[in-house]
Amino acid sequence: MIIDAFLKKHLLPVLLMAGAVGGVVAGGVTSGFWNGQHPAFTGSVHLVGELFMNLLKIMVIPFIVTSMILGVTSMGGQSALKRSFLTTLIFYFFTTVLAVITGLLLVTLISPGEVGNLSQSGTVASSHPLKWYDALFSTIRSTVPSNIVMAAAKGEIIGVITFSILTGFGILHIGKKGKVLVEFTQSLNDVFTKLINWIIWIAPLGIFAIVFENTGLAGGFNGITSQLKGLGFYMLTVIAGLSVHAFLTLPLLLFLLTGRNPVSYALNFSQAIIMAFSTASSAATLPLTVKNSIENAKNSESISQLVLPLGATVNMDGTALYEAVAVVFVAQSFGMHLSFVAIGIIALTSTLAAVGAAAIPHAGLVTMVMVFSAADIPPEIASKGIAAILAVDWILDRFRTSVNVWGDAVGTAVVDRLGSRKTK
Ligand code: ASP
Repeated sequence: MIIDAFLKKHLLPVLLMAGAVGGVVAGGVTSGFWNGQHPAFTGSVHLVGELFMNLLKIMVIPFIVTSMILGVTSMGGQSALKRSFLTTLIFYFFTTVLAVITGLLLVTLISPGEVGNLSQSGTVASSHPLKWYDALFSTIRSTVPSNIVMAAAKGEIIGVITFSILTGFGILHIGKKGKVLVEFTQSLNDVFTKLINWIIWIAPLGIFAIVFENTGLAGGFNGITSQLKGLGFYMLTVIAGLSVHAFLTLPLLLFLLTGRNPVSYALNFSQAIIMAFSTASSAATLPLTVKNSIENAKNSESISQLVLPLGATVNMDGTALYEAVAVVFVAQSFGMHLSFVAIGIIALTSTLAAVGAAAIPHAGLVTMVMVFSAADIPPEIASKGIAAILAVDWILDRFRTSVNVWGDAVGTAVVDRLGSRKTK
């Protein structure tokens, strides 16, 4: 039992890291094979990565439904539930705004757009002129889907969350008659947790294949180095901002609000953070985040089940910071002067765009169109800018997704401490 727990806690993160590092090496060594001339080889690597990602994704919707229902029904009373919800939303909003401010300060200080140039400009589909309230409306609209099956099929997790929360409330309100449903959901949740326990043991192989393919497609070490050169300052700004948020802001908040040691708290989530870095998807990482929260960080089960699925969907500190930096960077590169009001709009819409972004790879790049539009940056500039930064998005996506997951993890500890008024 003790050996089993030790292996699970320490062996898995090491294997996950080994998979990622091995993938970089394998992709670097075989970079010459990724030019489309060796489809059997590249296809096999892709297949392994794809199967692994699918295995993770297949668990997401069922797991969210059972987790959220149990989170609501096991909270023990309406007032605890209300307090936890409110604390969660306030904390998520507050930290996302802090992340955006950090990004905006750094991009203004470093001014990466004045150093680099966006020479590889192409175009992507042009956008309609959107306003900040369009961003708000579309985010709010996605919370109430008209068809739950369609929302689930499209991976619109926020809609599934609303439905699950409502179902949880319904169960609470029918009293004794709901008991059987809670037991059923609990046992289903146990089954999913078991499946996830199995799946994560093949994660090192899956991560190896994903990183292998990405490195190979990027042209190996040389390809990555040349991408870094062109957009180096921009990447540096994003990564510096993410680092400030992940290593200073969030740990400080964690310590001040819960008294927990940020280093050991982060180590509890090492599996989830490595998984987020490797898959670039908070949704695919979610089951592992919940598992780490309950088993390693010892956060309460109901709080983890409630706060983390919500966080994976709406709390994207890394994405918000990234969107704000990217938009200002593009404007700087094209010599545009941004007024104080425009910066304010960028801050607001980056926050909303991050809330609205799906928890899947590259989602932040898609919702960024909204930020450009709201800040009145001409569509030609926006599309050229997005086309240029697309090249390095696969790298930055990993960093911001890790910060997104870390932000959710910190939020869980805070709600566990403040929301449920529990003393640890
Ligand atoms: N990949 C990110 C996530 O899943 C979203 C984004 O593209 O920023 O959290």
